[in-house]
Amino acid sequence: MRLVRLETFHNEFLCFVKATAEDGAIGWGQTSTYNADITAQVFHRQIAPWALGQDCTDIAALVQRVERAEHKYPGSYRNRAMAGLDTALWDMAGRRAGLPVAALIGGSAGPVRAYASSMSRDLSPEAEAERLKRICGEQGFTAAKFRIGAEMGEDRDQWPGRTEAIIPAVTRALPGIETLVDANSGFSVGRAIAVGRVLEDHGVGHYEEPVPWWDLEATRAVADALEIDVTGGEQDVDLGVFARMIATRTVDVVQPDVMYLGGLAKTLQVARMAEAAGLPVTPHAANLGLVTMATMHLLRAIPNAGKYLEFSIEGDEYYPWQKGIFRGDPFRVEAGNLTVSEAPGWGVEVNPDWLERAVYRVSAEGDAPQTDYARLYHATMAQGLQVLGGCSPPKPPRQRGARPPLETPWIFEDR
Ligand SMILES: [Mg+2]
Repeated sequence: MRLVRLETFHNEFLCFVKATAEDGAIGWGQTSTYNADITAQVFHRQIAPWALGQDCTDIAALVQRVERAEHKYPGSYRNRAMAGLDTALWDMAGRRAGLPVAALIGGSAGPVRAYASSMSRDLSPEAEAERLKRICGEQGFTAAKFRIGAEMGEDRDQWPGRTEAIIPAVTRALPGIETLVDANSGFSVGRAIAVGRVLEDHGVGHYEEPVPWWDLEATRAVADALEIDVTGGEQDVDLGVFARMIATRTVDVVQPDVMYLGGLAKTLQVARMAEAAGLPVTPHAANLGLVTMATMHLLRAIPNAGKYLEFSIEGDEYYPWQKGIFRGDPFRVEAGNLTVSEAPGWGVEVNPDWLERAVYRVSAEGDAPQTDYARLYHATMAQGLQVLGGCSPPKPPRQRGARPPLETPWIFEDR
């Protein structure tokens, strides 16, 4: 089944993707959030040309094809844009089957336990403790996360003494509630271990990103020294890094972000690696865009799902852009749980008013290449990628010297 059209609707924060197959089937997805205007451009330049005209029913194979074609671009934006393709195709597959995505990957509709996730370092320890107590009481959360240290803080606290004050303040205010903390790469190994001992003394169970996230050896040193679960992985987009992180027991809980990583197909690969090593997966999902819904479906399906879904408790002041993006209330909390519905696909519908205000772009099968780079180099790469399958027959090799003319002349400046 060929993919024939990819449309995007974006503003600076969000980019939704509508995929259409040759039989008219559609699916809706989303790229990762923030700088979504840039991500939309990456999507149409580096994702869409490799996906259009290809079989869109084997999502993992199509994602791999795009990754191989754009293998010089292994980093963040390619993966953020890839998530838009991946999630649109999972939605399409669910709509075709009349099933929620969770059911396509071995799970089912139903409740997902969530933890109340604070994003704030601005509140005083007392105010944060009071807020989390109130929200857990009102919405029935049985777990809550708060922030310690300063983001990338190199051992400087958000203000002196905040970490030492907020740990007892929050844990005392939440008897019977499981507590988690996130240090957002804020500490050195020595400080991280010292803070970790304080966390253990106060019964905190989850210690996220204690040291700079890319330093696997430092993270492992912290995990080896402590009993508390050391967790991480939200920034990582390389399956090889996840394989090393898991094989070397760098973390006790693996935390891919479905959207940063490039979608559900890659996240399932990480989940399977973790499962083989006996490690749970508690994904990063820090806003109420599609990332939280995709994570809900994942947690309803994988056997090594962590204990809870990350659920942001921040409101319109912190996340003004997430207001009213979906019809209805897909993230309703009841007794601390969210619910994956029986609706096909992701079970969400982007609000038409939001789409109306968004910037629109479309790429269709058969469109001329958008750039001189593509005109020069895509055909050769596409020929090499035929081994990965797809619907387009291989094209005959191009004659030497028959490169198409450039549309923009090269400019050489004498200096
Ligand atoms: Mg985090």
